[in-house]
Amino acid sequence: MLMNMTDLLKVANEHNFAVPAFNIGTGMILNAVIERCEALQAPVILAIHPLELGFQGDNFIESVKSIANRTKIPCVIHLDHSEEKDIYRAVRDGFTSVMIDASSLPFEENIAITKRIVDFCRPLNVSVEGELGTIGTTEQSFEGGVSSTEISYTQPEEARTFIDRTGVDTLAIAIGTCHGIYPKGFQPNLQQELLSKIKKVVPETPLVLHGGSSNKDSEIAEACRRGINKINISSDIKDAFYQELRNTLKDEFIREPFELYPPAIAAMNKIIDHKIELFNDDDKVKYYRLG
Ligand SMILES: [Zn+2]
Repeated sequence: MLMNMTDLLKVANEHNFAVPAFNIGTGMILNAVIERCEALQAPVILAIHPLELGFQGDNFIESVKSIANRTKIPCVIHLDHSEEKDIYRAVRDGFTSVMIDASSLPFEENIAITKRIVDFCRPLNVSVEGELGTIGTTEQSFEGGVSSTEISYTQPEEARTFIDRTGVDTLAIAIGTCHGIYPKGFQPNLQQELLSKIKKVVPETPLVLHGGSSNKDSEIAEACRRGINKINISSDIKDAFYQELRNTLKDEFIREPFELYPPAIAAMNKIIDHKIELFNDDDKVKYYRLG
């Protein structure tokens, strides 16, 4: 059942779990995510980056909406890391949530742009995610971010001001994660105390974690307990899928999609299941009144 982010994450905030936002770059990922979420009774966010939307085209969103409307799993179609121009297209397409990423701009400019997007989206029942602080990047991630040594952490009092002045529905915070897969030997360190302080000053706003692909499971589980309600997952599932596909493709005679893809889908499904359980998102459909 398709809904907006506000309604989806209100329940997650009340019951202290995080909903995974899986980046749906192809129909195969979409189908796998829905199949696993139905099996595990797990609410889900179908995230699409503007570059993925550009590649798949607007008609792809028609099939995403069709699946989202038919499934009994609560789900949101969310535009990941976008600029203003992408948002108008996504809202026309029928996305129910968008992220405006103006976090690299000065605080006042971030507020002004984010508020403009909220003013546009709110009458249309589309939720808005803002970002405060900067998330790092470990490699050439299309999601962007600054070098992992230049992360600026979200400050609790700024988070309160930002939410009050923009009216955002959800807030992506920077507490020490980076986009992409971390290089070998790099030890990320989540600032859990900072997360608790932010949650304390903005208890009603669901908080979002980006770039948690390679953090230790124990760190992510702790972040869920301390108030993260949405976690973006992109690199981890795609890496599992395409590494397995590379193995399969070593057989030069294999060419049928129904032979090529099932091992890759199975490898990806393991990661999808693991994330759902790690975020405490499994068996949470029961908390939604879906009629
Ligand atoms: Zn991100």
